[in-house]
Amino acid sequence: MGARKGRDYIERLKNYPPETWIGNEKITDPTTHPLVAPAVKSIARLYDSQWETDKKEHMLFKSPKTGDLVGSSFLVPKSKDDLAKRRKMHQVWAEETYGMMGRSTDFMSAMMTAWYINSDFFGKYADHVRNYFEYIRENDLYLTHVLIDPQVNRGKAPSEQPDEFTYLGVVRETDKGIIVRGAKMLATAGPYADEMLVWPFHLRKPTEKDYKYAISFALPMNTPGVRLIAREPFTRDSVYDHPLASQFDELDGVVVFDDVLVPWERVFIYQDVERVNTVWKLNSNAFTGHQTSIRLQTKLQLIAGTVIKATEMVNTNQFPHVQDMMGEITTYIELIRAAVLASEMTSEPNQDGIYMPNVTPLYAIRNSGNRWYPRVREIVQLILAGGLMYQPSNADVFNSPIAADIRKYYRGAEVSADDKVKLFKLAADIAVSDFGSRHELYERFYAGDPMFLRIQTQYSAYDKSQCLALVDKLLSKYGISEKV
Ligand SMILES: Cc1cc2nc3c(=O)[nH]c(=O)nc-3n(C[C@H](O)[C@H](O)[C@H](O)COP(=O)(O)OP(=O)(O)OC[C@H]3O[C@@H](n4cnc5c(N)ncnc54)[C@H](O)[C@@H]3O)c2cc1C
Repeated sequence: MGARKGRDYIERLKNYPPETWIGNEKITDPTTHPLVAPAVKSIARLYDSQWETDKKEHMLFKSPKTGDLVGSSFLVPKSKDDLAKRRKMHQVWAEETYGMMGRSTDFMSAMMTAWYINSDFFGKYADHVRNYFEYIRENDLYLTHVLIDPQVNRGKAPSEQPDEFTYLGVVRETDKGIIVRGAKMLATAGPYADEMLVWPFHLRKPTEKDYKYAISFALPMNTPGVRLIAREPFTRDSVYDHPLASQFDELDGVVVFDDVLVPWERVFIYQDVERVNTVWKLNSNAFTGHQTSIRLQTKLQLIAGTVIKATEMVNTNQFPHVQDMMGEITTYIELIRAAVLASEMTSEPNQDGIYMPNVTPLYAIRNSGNRWYPRVREIVQLILAGGLMYQPSNADVFNSPIAADIRKYYRGAEVSADDKVKLFKLAADIAVSDFGSRHELYERFYAGDPMFLRIQTQYSAYDKSQCLALVDKLLSKYGISEKV
């Protein structure tokens, strides 16, 4: 089949809908349900964009298996040009969603590309990983992933939770596969994905007694026994009043596995504590970090543009501290841009001639972005202040008996109320809406706990040799009696 178009994605989702619950309502067709369909439409646009004439060159490549054109987020890079091709692909999708859909499927294709490259890690299940990667590449499937256990008792190990299967674990084996029971959080985009990848990620490292929870596998979202309990959707119907929430609310949910059969060919790690504790060796952060940095850069560009325009409208852009804070946002944008390019330029081929992005500069962005984003949202609030709250409740007011009030009191220095309200509604969706709050939480946590991430990658595993060598060089040059 190869790379899909939007209509292929929608058709498949209509035929194989995940079992999603929003409150007491079971969603039977995510492609038409008013709270889910807007996100589906946005994803469909991404699939369509792969085929646009001016983008095709970096969005697609020839499958090494079938010769069909497939998505570049599955490209195994054999040169720095290939890395650049992947970057351009991620950028097109990030710009199409203004960086607001963190789990557009190029995120998971990026992760799976690393799993494929390093599939030997999976030992006797390595072929399962390789076959699965080729299957999702050739069918251009949309994946979500669920790693985290339900937040029930973080003080105890998986095997010590109130119920044996609070956390997802193996109930028994059959000839066909394994039966699993329990739950996982949070499947962002789960209600409109085709497939999910499951693997455990714990702050508290599992020990041998937690072996039955040490599993990884992939399944279609509509597998019998799998159901998704969605959070409250933030989707709104008016694009004018909620330009982001109306189009890009990627719904998150808890996935429940009710004695679900996972066929053997979909099992990647099986009751193997050692492997789940060393999954970092796959270096998937190199590809996911590449994708997420490019996406964050785009999102910050949208926010910077929004505040630059908004402050021009009310002339607060003349004040130095306002300029300083806008400069803070553009500083982050440029640091990301530099890190992404550095990750490509300093990439070294592995023994098979494969180039993965250098993860070190990308880690620096991941460990900063989770702090920058809350600060950037705060800057929008500090700069636009009450302007974020004084917008009329909805666009109908322009066709009401009080329209003249709006045109008089909601105009800007040199701009009509129509244009100003439109822009400030966008700013409010970023800075003060429920959708905007979820985005702050997302950026803080999407890659894991910010503090532990920074300790692990910027301190414990950080290559300190250059820093230490510099100090040693200086110290070696003088003794107690050294004078100038
Ligand atoms: C909007 C959003 C979308 C997400 N999407 C996905 C997704 O698509 N797929 C997915 O798999 N996950 C997803 N996540 C989950 C995300 O990976 C987790 O939120 C993140 O890893 C933190 O885990 P937690 O939320 O369980 O917090 P917890 O681990 O419960 O942490 C809560 C607090 O307790 C502290 N704490 C917890 N355990 C320990 C410990 N052992 N030692 C010391 N301190 C501890 C933490 O530091 C933190 O301050 C998403 C999260 C959000 C908010």
